[in-house]
Amino acid sequence: MKTHYDVVVIGAGPAGLMVAKEMSAAGATVLLVDIKKEIPKVNRSCCTMLINEPNTHGETVRIVNNNLHFEKTGFTVPYTGKFVKLVRSVRLSPGGYKLTMVNRSEGVAHPYTKEVILKNLLDSAVDNGTDVLTETAGIKAENVNGGVRVFLRPACSRSMYEVRCKIAFAADGVNSQIVTGLELFKTRKYFGSFRVASYFLDNVDYPYWDAWVTCVGKGHTRWGRGQIYMVPKFLPYAQDGDRPILDVFCGTPCGMPAKMGLDSFIKEGPFREWFRHATIVHRGACVVNFYTCIMNPVEGNIVVVGDAAAFIETYCQAAMMYGYRAAHAALKVLATGRGYEDYTNFWRESFEYCHPGEIEKALQGFGLGQLEDEALDYIFKLTDNEEYEGYVSENTAPDVMKKAIMGHIDQIRRERPDIAVVIEKHWKASAEDIVQG
Ligand SMILES: Cc1cc2nc3c(=O)[nH]c(=O)nc-3n(C[C@H](O)[C@H](O)[C@H](O)COP(=O)(O)OP(=O)(O)OC[C@H]3O[C@@H](n4cnc5c(N)ncnc54)[C@H](O)[C@@H]3O)c2cc1C
Repeated sequence: MKTHYDVVVIGAGPAGLMVAKEMSAAGATVLLVDIKKEIPKVNRSCCTMLINEPNTHGETVRIVNNNLHFEKTGFTVPYTGKFVKLVRSVRLSPGGYKLTMVNRSEGVAHPYTKEVILKNLLDSAVDNGTDVLTETAGIKAENVNGGVRVFLRPACSRSMYEVRCKIAFAADGVNSQIVTGLELFKTRKYFGSFRVASYFLDNVDYPYWDAWVTCVGKGHTRWGRGQIYMVPKFLPYAQDGDRPILDVFCGTPCGMPAKMGLDSFIKEGPFREWFRHATIVHRGACVVNFYTCIMNPVEGNIVVVGDAAAFIETYCQAAMMYGYRAAHAALKVLATGRGYEDYTNFWRESFEYCHPGEIEKALQGFGLGQLEDEALDYIFKLTDNEEYEGYVSENTAPDVMKKAIMGHIDQIRRERPDIAVVIEKHWKASAEDIVQG
């Protein structure tokens, strides 16, 4: 390891790995730092679905020869694992009634394996000459004299040391430590925090192997708040003939027990019969702090990329895409002294949560679960036998759900005016109201 680099990348998730790979491929000297011991190993909960809806965050990602092809930006990420094609996205009420979005030809999403993507990107970055420092935390980045001082701390030590570089990338995820030390952090608004717990379960008697399922409503767990997701996917390095497992998630507002919510769903929830013979093969967890997006993700020569700049998440695919774009903007800066605006302008235009109203819309989609169970059962009974064209994306699914439910509003007003009032008010709720429950 050296004391001076062209580039230091803090965080080796999809965004940071892509930056390191692209910059080192172009001949820059790169140090990649991560707090993890084994970079490809994933214990952070993540559905890891490829969102194949065209123009998601300004990019269309397709599966071409089993790889991820980024059509608009024009690059391909090698993938050597397996995909599951999901053709339905199903919202389930506690009584088991459905609101279903479908796309039978292209699928609504394609779960894949994050470990394989991270390993392939890491191998390429290392082959290109990137130095990798594991079990080390990035603590702070400071602009100095046209360059950046990055303060690092080994996991086993209390003392920090310093590395210098021309450009630093904060790619340390949604709860970015590096971003909290920057001036631009003051431009963000905090909404709240969520905990997530998840299990990979084998031997599940599950009726929805072709679907992403979201359980909506309080009656799914004893704790009454939060949301359950279920994603069929393959284990890392699954072979032909292996069957998918079920990744089951419980997300709750902080202060509520996500793991207890998950256990309660599996052991006591309305669908507990599905899990009677289930075995846990992997456990995951995470905390997600919700802040508004950073609209200008470059401060001096510190570039914020991936979830570190985002509201909730960019998705793995967009973390890679913004990593690619940020790396190429930075290469232009190294060559000509200018170029960050290529990345910042694209980020502001393409990242959907940067657009007014998008945060509210997504949260209204998530927030339906705060309605009473009886109201949700009534509403989803109306849509139970219907199918609406749609995808999994959190930026477009809320509109489809709203259209599906409001398509029945005359009947709801007639039969259940009390529920009509609540559901009509729900689409006007502010982001704060929903996050605070
Ligand atoms: C419940 C849930 C479900 C999701 N479902 C999907 C989905 O279906 N599809 C999808 O594409 N995306 C999904 N995501 C989002 C996806 O996980 C992220 O958008 C993606 O991983 C972002 O990549 P990133 O590189 O920006 O950050 P991360 O993947 O979070 O990587 C950050 C890296 O930085 C490291 N790090 C953190 N702090 C420090 C520090 N101080 N110093 C050094 N290293 C540090 C971490 O160890 C990590 O390796 C989901 C997320 C959650 C929470």
